[in-house]
Amino acid sequence: MVHFNTNSSQYLTNEFQPQDYLQDSELQLGDFTFDKTHFSASSIFFGLEAMKELNRPGIDKSWRYFDSAQQIAWKTGTSFGNRDAWSIGVTKKYVVGVWVGNADGEGRPGLTGVSAAAPVMFNLFDLLPKSDWFNIPYDDTVEAKVCSKSGMLASEICPTVTKRIPEQGLETAQCHYHKLVHLDKTGTYRVNTSCESMDNIQPVSKFVLPPLMAWYYKKKNADYTYLPPLREGCEGMPTEVMAFSEPTGNNVIIVPKGISGERNSIIFKLVHIRPAAKVHWYLNDTYLKTTQNFNEVAIDFEQTGHHTITAIDDAGDEIRKRVVIK
Ligand SMILES: [Zn+2]
Repeated sequence: MVHFNTNSSQYLTNEFQPQDYLQDSELQLGDFTFDKTHFSASSIFFGLEAMKELNRPGIDKSWRYFDSAQQIAWKTGTSFGNRDAWSIGVTKKYVVGVWVGNADGEGRPGLTGVSAAAPVMFNLFDLLPKSDWFNIPYDDTVEAKVCSKSGMLASEICPTVTKRIPEQGLETAQCHYHKLVHLDKTGTYRVNTSCESMDNIQPVSKFVLPPLMAWYYKKKNADYTYLPPLREGCEGMPTEVMAFSEPTGNNVIIVPKGISGERNSIIFKLVHIRPAAKVHWYLNDTYLKTTQNFNEVAIDFEQTGHHTITAIDDAGDEIRKRVVIK
């Protein structure tokens, strides 16, 4: 990317080289070419930009480096069982990699990339000469209208911001979270021509996320509003109001056993777009309980095999999850 900006937007044929520890060895970077060899300059630039903005909790001290000194793109990793951890950072001049672990591979609580490796990495960057940040490789980017909510390419009904993006970004999908919905005059219900005259229908562009995504999004965006319900008497698809949030993953569940050999219960959770909605839970056809606000149940599966968990809310909307218990 540095070569790209200083060489009239050209790449070098041998930019990617094997590791070399000899100080006086000469690099043969090859000839200039307009074709990318591995990654395009803009995809590297935007990749590093994204890693520069990683906001990790518990590393406040290191954040001083971003305020005062220089910008660093960085990433951490922790192995299963906290056996070892690493952190790698990049500036225009240097790459610093730090590995932390015990020689015998013993895991230690708190041995994570963020808490153990990253602080050492930032200290090392502090000892090295500072460098400025990479310049944007303009010639490998294009200006595009991007949806200000989803970050995807804007559709005709999205609120937009104009941004420079990698040229290949023009081939990505348009935002499909903005939907044109038809509301009644008051804006409180969805309607259509089966139940309302055209004059009383107002088309509105709305940012609509699936229930589970909406639940996470609303935690950080209090102004998010759910899709209004379909007015009674109107034909059409009802609003999706519930989604299971736990268990995640596929529908095969292996039930863990407790110390004395009894089978543990499995927690099922769901999110509802109306927190006050009452949700009635069923295992197969047996009623379990009713929940509100915190919609979760612990289910004891007495038999292995196929089971259906059904949740029905106070408006009659229903979702089902089929699971295989092992
Ligand atoms: Zn959009």
